[in-house]
Amino acid sequence: MKTALQISAQLENLNEFYTIGEDFRWYIKLKCCNCGEETPEFVYCSLGDTYPAPHGKSSCSLILKCKLCKRENSLDIIKDSLCSYTSEDSGKFKTILVFDCRGVTPIDFSPRVGWEAVGLESDTSFADIDLSSSTFFSSGMV
Ligand SMILES: [Zn+2]
Repeated sequence: MKTALQISAQLENLNEFYTIGEDFRWYIKLKCCNCGEETPEFVYCSLGDTYPAPHGKSSCSLILKCKLCKRENSLDIIKDSLCSYTSEDSGKFKTILVFDCRGVTPIDFSPRVGWEAVGLESDTSFADIDLSSSTFFSSGMV
């Protein structure tokens, strides 16, 4: 099952912002499709981390054993789905990443650190932006 991460932001004086590198940590909360248990804390996955998938032959970005029903669930970041959020998207929800999920559903996202942005006029780029306590940013899973 595929779940898209959508974000919405008000970009002022920024041309675009995006995550960079395979080290970027996507902090998410997950719900077990088998028993409904939700992870109490945010867990993270990144493109750089790959594990053999518990079921099937492919690889995945995260394996998480449900604390309640003990089922082994997994999730994979679809690399090709990753894209930046631009000034044209400002104020609208846009899919910036798609997760391929087995047994879990992402229910929440925490943007945190490691974002980069490019200025609107100067073409200056800003590295390692912290969106942890940002008020111009919101997200959802569809
Ligand atoms: Zn469960």
